[in-house]
Amino acid sequence: MTTSSYPDIRLLIANEWVDATGGKTIAVVNPATGQPIGAVAHAAIADLDRALAAAQKGFEAWRVVPAAERAATMRRAANLLRERAGDIARLLTQEQGKPLAEAKMEAMAGAEIIDWFAAEGMRVYGRIVPSRNPAAQQLVLKEPVGPVAAFTPWNFPINQVVRKLAAALATGCSFLCKAPEETPASPAALFQCFVDAGVPPGVVGLVFGDPAEISGYLIPHPVIRKVTFTGSTPVGKQLAALAGAHMKRVTMELGGHAPVIVAADADVALAVKAAGGAKFRNAGQVCISPTRFLVHNAVKDEFTRALVKHAESLKIGDGLQEGTTLGPLANPRRLTAMSQLVDDARAKGAVIATGGERVGDAGNFFAPTILADVPLAASVFNDEPFGPVAAIRGFDSLEDAIAEANRLPFGLAGYAFTSSIKNAQLLMNRVEVGMLWINQPATPSAEMPFGGVKDSGYGSEGGPEALESYLNTKAVSMVGV
Ligand code: NAD
Repeated sequence: MTTSSYPDIRLLIANEWVDATGGKTIAVVNPATGQPIGAVAHAAIADLDRALAAAQKGFEAWRVVPAAERAATMRRAANLLRERAGDIARLLTQEQGKPLAEAKMEAMAGAEIIDWFAAEGMRVYGRIVPSRNPAAQQLVLKEPVGPVAAFTPWNFPINQVVRKLAAALATGCSFLCKAPEETPASPAALFQCFVDAGVPPGVVGLVFGDPAEISGYLIPHPVIRKVTFTGSTPVGKQLAALAGAHMKRVTMELGGHAPVIVAADADVALAVKAAGGAKFRNAGQVCISPTRFLVHNAVKDEFTRALVKHAESLKIGDGLQEGTTLGPLANPRRLTAMSQLVDDARAKGAVIATGGERVGDAGNFFAPTILADVPLAASVFNDEPFGPVAAIRGFDSLEDAIAEANRLPFGLAGYAFTSSIKNAQLLMNRVEVGMLWINQPATPSAEMPFGGVKDSGYGSEGGPEALESYLNTKAVSMVGV
């Protein structure tokens, strides 16, 4: 079945779904067909003011709810998300394009993340610190930072929200989100789970509209105490600067350009299966997608042949169609970007080992593409591809591969394949990334830190570190009581 119903999406303010003041809307387009499928409300400033007032009230109500009760509400939301995952996945695939199985996995993984943060929220402890004055008692208290403004992108419309939302709610913060206008229905369905689970009005809010107008209004607003953004590095830098000017806490999860280092002693079949598989997930529109393949010259040809075979085995099509393993790109901007990257690489001397072209003329389909012998000057080795394009270069010494891995300003994910502990330790200590996976595909989970270094941002969206970024620390010393 390749058709399904798709709802118009409104704004969520104080647990009510409302039209935007003035009734303005934005069209939502199915990337597999290029056809409009619905509309999303475009918030006016008056709507943002009401959402902010609700977030303040929501915070005051939620912060005093005991952590165990907050956790119970969150677990109810997670269960609803699991129950509804099949329907939500159909919305997600229609608006974003990924194969239905990947969409369902995203919703199910979202429920896991909520459960983990719900439990971790019950382990937010303060400390008692021995005092130098025997009459004094010294305490360190952890308090929720306050209402959070979150900005999330279209590549994982549920997952990108869940990591922020679950950590915020677990610590007692309220959460006002601007989710992507291109993919509004699946995040709206996620928020509905929280409303149905019984969060007090204003604990969660969801708006859509003009991203720059909304961030420009919410970030400086005195109600907002914390800003969290996932998206491109240029936008992240702008928002971090604005947050800095208003002294707001910030988490930034930005672009990457993940190196994949395949050493001479690597299991090549494993490297192709792990990194090649990950390369084309979500059509490569993943911030931790493997992108710069640095392969030892002794195994480069074998690796390239096997990766081409894998790319050519993918079934490209509408994500709702049974058997599809590679969906369309989420928007026409990515299609243009892919063509430009391939043309530039070809002009600079790279070999197009497979793919390299748009597929069909309806929808945003681009063939899985492998570029071999790519010169360092090619854009694809410098700008994050964010699409189904893998670029391969050979190397002779691991030192050279590490230098190349660290050459770019990005530092999000990295991958390495080697059978030697000496190499593994060298890579672990020297590759400048926030996350490194050795001899395996990426396995991000709620309990492991998730985030980058350098231009890939700062802060973490996993592990106890994620909760820390939604907490203030208060030092109290008292005598005479
Ligand atoms: P973009 O830079 O225009 O937008 C990226 C995201 O930021 C979108 O979700 C957009 O709605 C939002 N955004 C843009 N301007 C904003 C503003 N002033 N205030 C608040 N939000 C704003 O790029 P794009 O064409 O949507 O995506 C392309 C690039 O973005 C990719 O190449 C990739 O580097 C990056 N990206 C990264 C992730 C990630 O997971 N880190 C996700 C999506 C996009």
